Amino acid sequence: MSQRGSILKWVLGLAAFCLLLTFAVSNTGYVAAQDDVCNQPGYFDGPWDEQKQEEYERCQQQGNSGNSSDDCVIPDSGPWPPCATDGNNGGSADDCVIPDSGPWPPCATGGSSGGNTGGSAEECVIPKSGPWPPCATGGDGNAPAPAPQPVPDDSPTPPAFDQAGVEARIDQAVEILQTFWQAELKQRGVNYRPPGIVQTYRGHPDDPPNAFYIPAMDAIFIDLRLLEEVTVDFGVYAAVGVLAHEWGHFIQDQLNLYGQLPGLRQIELQADCMAGSYTTHELNLGLINAQDVQLARDLFFSIGDDQINPDAPYNHPGAHGTGNERLAAFNHGLNTNAQTCIDGFR
Ligand SMILES: [Zn+2]
Repeated sequence: MSQRGSILKWVLGLAAFCLLLTFAVSNTGYVAAQDDVCNQPGYFDGPWDEQKQEEYERCQQQGNSGNSSDDCVIPDSGPWPPCATDGNNGGSADDCVIPDSGPWPPCATGGSSGGNTGGSAEECVIPKSGPWPPCATGGDGNAPAPAPQPVPDDSPTPPAFDQAGVEARIDQAVEILQTFWQAELKQRGVNYRPPGIVQTYRGHPDDPPNAFYIPAMDAIFIDLRLLEEVTVDFGVYAAVGVLAHEWGHFIQDQLNLYGQLPGLRQIELQADCMAGSYTTHELNLGLINAQDVQLARDLFFSIGDDQINPDAPYNHPGAHGTGNERLAAFNHGLNTNAQTCIDGFR
Protein backbone atom coordinates (compact mmCIF):
# COMPACT_ATOMS: atom_id res chain seq x y z
CA MET A 1 0.00 0.00 0.00
CA SER A 2 1.16 3.50 -0.74
CA GLN A 3 2.22 5.77 2.05
CA ARG A 4 2.10 8.77 -0.20
CA GLY A 5 -1.47 9.32 0.77
CA SER A 6 -2.46 12.45 2.53
CA ILE A 7 -5.46 14.52 3.33
CA LEU A 8 -4.82 16.57 0.21
CA LYS A 9 -5.23 13.60 -2.11
CA TRP A 10 -8.19 12.54 -0.11
CA VAL A 11 -9.73 15.97 -0.50
CA LEU A 12 -9.00 15.97 -4.20
CA GLY A 13 -10.90 12.72 -4.42
CA LEU A 14 -14.01 14.72 -3.61
CA ALA A 15 -15.38 17.89 -5.07
CA ALA A 16 -13.75 20.57 -2.97
CA PHE A 17 -13.13 24.29 -2.96
CA CYS A 18 -10.05 25.70 -1.37
CA LEU A 19 -8.16 28.85 -0.55
CA LEU A 20 -5.15 28.45 -2.79
CA LEU A 21 -4.60 27.44 -6.36
CA THR A 22 -4.34 23.75 -7.11
CA PHE A 23 -2.56 24.01 -10.43
CA ALA A 24 0.57 22.17 -9.36
CA VAL A 25 -1.44 19.34 -7.91
CA SER A 26 -3.70 19.10 -10.91
CA ASN A 27 -0.69 19.03 -13.14
CA THR A 28 0.96 16.15 -11.37
CA GLY A 29 -2.09 14.33 -10.09
CA TYR A 30 -5.11 13.43 -12.11
CA VAL A 31 -4.55 14.52 -15.65
CA ALA A 32 -6.41 13.46 -18.74
CA ALA A 33 -6.03 9.84 -19.68
CA GLN A 34 -3.12 9.19 -21.97
CA ASP A 35 -2.04 6.11 -23.90
CA ASP A 36 -1.55 3.89 -20.90
CA VAL A 37 -3.09 5.21 -17.73
CA CYS A 38 -2.19 1.98 -15.96
CA ASN A 39 1.32 3.24 -15.51
CA GLN A 40 0.49 6.88 -14.99
CA PRO A 41 1.47 7.79 -11.44
CA GLY A 42 -1.41 9.12 -9.42
CA TYR A 43 -4.00 8.68 -12.14
CA PHE A 44 -6.24 6.54 -9.97
CA ASP A 45 -5.89 8.81 -6.97
CA GLY A 46 -8.16 11.43 -8.52
CA PRO A 47 -11.94 11.67 -8.71
CA TRP A 48 -13.49 8.27 -9.45
CA ASP A 49 -16.06 7.64 -12.13
CA GLU A 50 -17.36 4.97 -14.48
CA GLN A 51 -14.56 5.56 -16.97
CA LYS A 52 -11.91 5.10 -14.33
CA GLN A 53 -13.63 1.99 -13.06
CA GLU A 54 -13.42 0.49 -16.55
CA GLU A 55 -9.80 1.56 -16.92
CA TYR A 56 -8.93 0.19 -13.52
CA GLU A 57 -10.45 -3.19 -14.34
CA ARG A 58 -8.54 -3.22 -17.62
CA CYS A 59 -5.32 -2.37 -15.83
CA GLN A 60 -5.89 -5.15 -13.34
CA GLN A 61 -6.22 -7.62 -16.19
CA GLN A 62 -2.81 -6.44 -17.35
CA GLY A 63 -1.40 -7.25 -13.97
CA ASN A 64 -1.12 -3.67 -12.87
CA SER A 65 -2.80 -2.51 -9.73
CA GLY A 66 -3.42 0.92 -11.12
CA ASN A 67 -1.51 2.73 -8.43
CA SER A 68 -4.22 2.08 -5.94
CA SER A 69 -3.76 3.62 -2.57
CA ASP A 70 -5.36 3.05 0.76
CA ASP A 71 -6.11 6.60 1.57
CA CYS A 72 -9.17 7.44 -0.46
CA VAL A 73 -12.65 8.12 0.72
CA ILE A 74 -15.22 5.46 0.06
CA PRO A 75 -18.31 6.94 -1.55
CA ASP A 76 -21.80 6.00 -0.45
CA SER A 77 -22.51 4.26 -3.73
CA GLY A 78 -20.46 2.55 -6.41
CA PRO A 79 -18.48 2.26 -8.56
CA TRP A 80 -15.97 1.65 -5.83
CA PRO A 81 -12.43 3.01 -5.96
CA PRO A 82 -9.46 0.67 -5.57
CA CYS A 83 -9.15 1.37 -1.87
CA ALA A 84 -12.61 -0.04 -1.33
CA THR A 85 -12.07 -3.17 -3.36
CA ASP A 86 -8.60 -3.71 -1.96
CA GLY A 87 -9.03 -2.92 1.63
CA ASN A 88 -12.61 -2.58 2.61
CA ASN A 89 -14.42 -5.40 0.87
CA GLY A 90 -15.83 -3.02 -1.68
CA GLY A 91 -19.28 -3.71 -0.45
CA SER A 92 -20.37 -0.39 0.84
CA ALA A 93 -19.16 2.52 2.85
CA ASP A 94 -20.84 0.95 5.85
CA ASP A 95 -18.15 -1.67 6.21
CA CYS A 96 -15.70 1.08 7.03
CA VAL A 97 -17.57 2.60 9.93
CA ILE A 98 -15.25 3.05 12.86
CA PRO A 99 -16.89 2.18 16.16
CA ASP A 100 -16.21 4.10 19.34
CA SER A 101 -14.66 1.05 20.96
CA GLY A 102 -12.75 -1.96 19.68
CA PRO A 103 -12.23 -4.44 18.21
CA TRP A 104 -11.49 -2.28 15.21
CA PRO A 105 -12.39 -3.14 11.62
CA PRO A 106 -9.59 -3.39 9.04
CA CYS A 107 -10.33 0.03 7.67
CA ALA A 108 -9.49 1.60 11.01
CA THR A 109 -6.24 -0.19 11.68
CA GLY A 110 -4.46 1.34 8.74
CA GLY A 111 -2.34 -1.71 8.14
CA SER A 112 1.33 -1.11 7.62
CA SER A 113 0.81 2.43 6.42
CA GLY A 114 -0.27 3.45 9.87
CA GLY A 115 -3.40 5.35 9.15
CA ASN A 116 -5.27 7.60 6.83
CA THR A 117 -7.15 4.65 5.50
CA GLY A 118 -10.11 6.54 4.27
CA GLY A 119 -13.55 7.51 5.24
CA SER A 120 -16.56 5.85 6.62
CA ALA A 121 -20.25 6.30 6.24
CA GLU A 122 -19.97 8.65 9.19
CA GLU A 123 -17.72 10.84 7.12
CA CYS A 124 -14.72 10.26 9.27
CA VAL A 125 -11.36 10.53 7.62
CA ILE A 126 -8.30 9.97 9.74
CA PRO A 127 -5.42 12.31 8.98
CA LYS A 128 -1.89 11.00 9.24
CA SER A 129 -1.10 13.27 12.14
CA GLY A 130 -3.15 14.74 14.93
CA PRO A 131 -5.20 16.37 16.19
CA TRP A 132 -7.50 13.43 15.54
CA PRO A 133 -11.17 13.81 14.74
CA PRO A 134 -13.61 12.41 17.29
CA CYS A 135 -14.36 9.31 15.26
CA ALA A 136 -10.69 8.32 15.35
CA THR A 137 -10.43 8.19 19.11
CA GLY A 138 -10.53 4.44 19.08
CA GLY A 139 -8.79 3.74 15.81
CA ASP A 140 -5.75 5.43 14.46
CA GLY A 141 -6.42 8.22 16.86
CA ASN A 142 -4.41 6.12 19.27
CA ALA A 143 -1.31 6.72 17.23
CA PRO A 144 1.23 8.83 19.08
CA ALA A 145 1.41 12.48 18.22
CA PRO A 146 4.39 13.48 16.08
CA ALA A 147 7.39 14.60 18.07
CA PRO A 148 7.83 18.37 18.13
CA GLN A 149 10.45 19.54 15.69
CA PRO A 150 13.47 21.39 17.06
CA VAL A 151 13.53 25.04 16.20
CA PRO A 152 16.43 25.81 13.83
CA ASP A 153 18.88 28.19 15.43
CA ASP A 154 20.41 29.60 12.24
CA SER A 155 18.17 32.63 12.09
CA PRO A 156 16.80 35.27 14.42
CA THR A 157 13.97 34.05 16.57
CA PRO A 158 10.95 33.88 14.25
CA PRO A 159 7.55 34.99 15.44
CA ALA A 160 6.07 32.11 17.37
CA PHE A 161 2.92 30.44 16.17
CA ASP A 162 0.42 30.65 18.98
CA GLN A 163 -1.61 27.65 17.92
CA ALA A 164 -3.87 27.65 20.95
CA GLY A 165 -4.51 31.36 20.58
CA VAL A 166 -5.23 31.08 16.85
CA GLU A 167 -7.58 28.14 17.36
CA ALA A 168 -9.39 30.03 20.11
CA ARG A 169 -9.77 32.98 17.71
CA ILE A 170 -11.17 30.63 15.08
CA ASP A 171 -13.65 29.23 17.59
CA GLN A 172 -14.77 32.77 18.34
CA ALA A 173 -15.12 33.57 14.65
CA VAL A 174 -17.18 30.43 14.04
CA GLU A 175 -19.81 31.73 16.46
CA ILE A 176 -19.86 35.18 14.87
CA LEU A 177 -19.94 33.76 11.33
CA GLN A 178 -23.01 31.75 12.28
CA THR A 179 -24.96 34.78 13.47
CA PHE A 180 -23.69 36.92 10.60
CA TRP A 181 -24.75 34.53 7.86
CA GLN A 182 -27.96 33.55 9.60
CA ALA A 183 -29.02 37.19 9.39
CA GLU A 184 -27.79 37.61 5.81
CA LEU A 185 -29.59 34.51 4.56
CA LYS A 186 -32.73 35.51 6.42
CA GLN A 187 -32.83 38.62 4.24
CA ARG A 188 -33.13 36.26 1.28
CA GLY A 189 -35.76 34.09 2.91
CA VAL A 190 -33.32 31.23 3.40
CA ASN A 191 -33.10 29.30 6.64
CA TYR A 192 -29.44 29.09 7.57
CA ARG A 193 -28.04 25.76 8.66
CA PRO A 194 -24.64 25.37 10.35
CA PRO A 195 -21.85 23.40 8.68
CA GLY A 196 -21.37 19.80 9.80
CA ILE A 197 -17.64 19.99 10.49
CA VAL A 198 -15.23 22.86 11.07
CA GLN A 199 -11.85 21.48 11.94
CA THR A 200 -8.14 22.13 11.81
CA TYR A 201 -5.67 19.42 10.90
CA ARG A 202 -1.95 19.20 10.28
CA GLY A 203 -1.25 18.24 6.70
CA HIS A 204 1.37 15.89 5.35
CA PRO A 205 4.79 17.51 4.79
CA ASP A 206 4.73 16.50 1.12
CA ASP A 207 1.56 18.49 0.47
CA PRO A 208 1.21 22.26 0.30
CA PRO A 209 -0.78 23.81 3.15
CA ASN A 210 -4.33 24.67 2.19
CA ALA A 211 -7.88 25.01 3.47
CA PHE A 212 -10.96 23.35 2.04
CA TYR A 213 -14.71 23.29 1.99
CA ILE A 214 -16.04 19.92 0.90
CA PRO A 215 -19.72 20.04 -0.11
CA ALA A 216 -20.18 16.26 0.05
CA MET A 217 -19.13 16.31 3.70
CA ASP A 218 -20.49 19.72 4.60
CA ALA A 219 -17.06 20.25 6.10
CA ILE A 220 -14.43 22.96 6.43
CA PHE A 221 -10.86 21.79 7.02
CA ILE A 222 -7.94 24.15 7.63
CA ASP A 223 -4.32 23.05 7.72
CA LEU A 224 -2.55 24.32 10.81
CA ARG A 225 0.57 24.84 8.71
CA LEU A 226 -1.40 27.34 6.62
CA LEU A 227 -2.62 29.09 9.75
CA GLU A 228 0.94 29.33 10.96
CA GLU A 229 2.10 30.86 7.68
CA VAL A 230 -0.65 33.42 7.41
CA THR A 231 -0.75 34.49 11.05
CA VAL A 232 3.02 34.91 11.28
CA ASP A 233 2.95 37.05 8.13
CA PHE A 234 -0.38 38.86 8.49
CA GLY A 235 -1.49 38.62 12.12
CA VAL A 236 -4.06 36.54 13.92
CA TYR A 237 -7.03 37.90 11.98
CA ALA A 238 -5.57 36.31 8.84
CA ALA A 239 -6.69 32.95 10.25
CA VAL A 240 -10.22 34.30 10.39
CA GLY A 241 -9.86 35.57 6.82
CA VAL A 242 -9.05 32.04 5.68
CA LEU A 243 -12.00 30.65 7.62
CA ALA A 244 -14.34 33.34 6.27
CA HIS A 245 -13.33 32.46 2.70
CA GLU A 246 -14.12 28.76 3.25
CA TRP A 247 -17.35 29.76 4.98
CA GLY A 248 -18.18 31.64 1.81
CA HIS A 249 -17.99 28.35 -0.10
CA PHE A 250 -20.30 26.83 2.49
CA ILE A 251 -22.79 29.66 1.92
CA GLN A 252 -22.48 29.21 -1.86
CA ASP A 253 -23.43 25.58 -1.32
CA GLN A 254 -26.49 26.49 0.74
CA LEU A 255 -27.62 28.96 -1.91
CA ASN A 256 -26.89 26.55 -4.77
CA LEU A 257 -24.63 29.12 -6.36
CA TYR A 258 -22.03 26.77 -7.81
CA GLY A 259 -24.05 26.04 -10.91
CA GLN A 260 -24.91 29.70 -11.36
CA LEU A 261 -21.30 30.91 -11.43
CA PRO A 262 -19.44 30.61 -14.73
CA GLY A 263 -16.27 29.03 -13.42
CA LEU A 264 -13.93 28.27 -10.56
CA ARG A 265 -12.39 31.75 -10.60
CA GLN A 266 -15.78 33.38 -10.03
CA ILE A 267 -16.57 30.89 -7.27
CA GLU A 268 -13.31 31.71 -5.53
CA LEU A 269 -13.60 35.46 -6.00
CA GLN A 270 -17.13 35.44 -4.64
CA ALA A 271 -15.84 33.62 -1.55
CA ASP A 272 -13.16 36.33 -1.22
CA CYS A 273 -15.91 38.96 -1.44
CA MET A 274 -17.88 37.18 1.28
CA ALA A 275 -14.77 37.14 3.47
CA GLY A 276 -14.49 40.88 2.91
CA SER A 277 -18.09 41.51 3.94
CA TYR A 278 -17.57 39.46 7.09
CA THR A 279 -14.41 41.45 7.84
CA THR A 280 -16.45 44.65 7.84
CA HIS A 281 -18.83 42.96 10.27
CA GLU A 282 -15.97 42.21 12.70
CA LEU A 283 -14.72 45.76 12.25
CA ASN A 284 -18.15 47.13 13.11
CA LEU A 285 -18.23 44.90 16.19
CA GLY A 286 -14.95 46.39 17.32
CA LEU A 287 -13.17 43.04 17.27
CA ILE A 288 -10.53 44.19 14.78
CA ASN A 289 -9.03 47.51 13.78
CA ALA A 290 -7.98 49.20 10.55
CA GLN A 291 -4.54 47.63 10.72
CA ASP A 292 -6.05 44.14 10.91
CA VAL A 293 -8.15 44.96 7.86
CA GLN A 294 -5.13 46.17 5.92
CA LEU A 295 -3.23 42.98 6.81
CA ALA A 296 -6.21 40.95 5.60
CA ARG A 297 -6.14 42.88 2.32
CA ASP A 298 -2.44 42.10 2.03
CA LEU A 299 -3.20 38.44 2.67
CA PHE A 300 -5.77 38.16 -0.12
CA PHE A 301 -3.44 39.87 -2.56
CA SER A 302 -0.63 37.53 -1.57
CA ILE A 303 -2.61 34.39 -2.33
CA GLY A 304 -3.37 35.39 -5.92
CA ASP A 305 -2.31 32.78 -8.44
CA ASP A 306 0.37 35.03 -9.92
CA GLN A 307 1.77 35.73 -6.47
CA ILE A 308 2.03 32.03 -5.62
CA ASN A 309 3.22 30.77 -8.98
CA PRO A 310 4.10 33.37 -11.62
CA ASP A 311 4.45 30.62 -14.21
CA ALA A 312 0.88 29.37 -13.87
CA PRO A 313 -1.16 30.26 -16.97
CA TYR A 314 -3.93 32.74 -16.26
CA ASN A 315 -6.68 30.36 -17.28
CA HIS A 316 -5.34 27.14 -15.83
CA PRO A 317 -8.00 24.81 -14.43
CA GLY A 318 -7.22 25.58 -10.79
CA ALA A 319 -7.18 29.35 -11.21
CA HIS A 320 -8.51 31.28 -8.22
CA GLY A 321 -7.70 34.76 -9.54
CA THR A 322 -4.65 37.00 -9.63
CA GLY A 323 -3.54 38.97 -6.62
CA ASN A 324 -5.26 42.07 -7.95
CA GLU A 325 -8.46 40.17 -8.68
CA ARG A 326 -8.57 38.60 -5.23
CA LEU A 327 -7.83 41.90 -3.52
CA ALA A 328 -10.54 43.62 -5.60
CA ALA A 329 -13.07 40.94 -4.67
CA PHE A 330 -12.17 41.18 -0.98
CA ASN A 331 -12.40 44.98 -1.16
CA HIS A 332 -15.78 44.72 -2.87
CA GLY A 333 -17.12 42.80 0.11
CA LEU A 334 -15.41 45.17 2.54
CA ASN A 335 -16.96 48.22 0.96
CA THR A 336 -20.46 46.91 0.22
CA ASN A 337 -22.11 43.94 1.93
CA ALA A 338 -22.68 40.21 1.70
CA GLN A 339 -25.78 40.62 -0.46
CA THR A 340 -23.82 42.27 -3.25
CA CYS A 341 -21.28 39.47 -3.06
CA ILE A 342 -24.05 36.91 -3.47
CA ASP A 343 -25.59 38.77 -6.38
CA GLY A 344 -22.30 39.50 -8.10
CA PHE A 345 -19.60 37.45 -9.85
CA ARG A 346 -22.04 35.80 -12.25
ZN1 LIG B 1 -11.83 28.89 -2.17
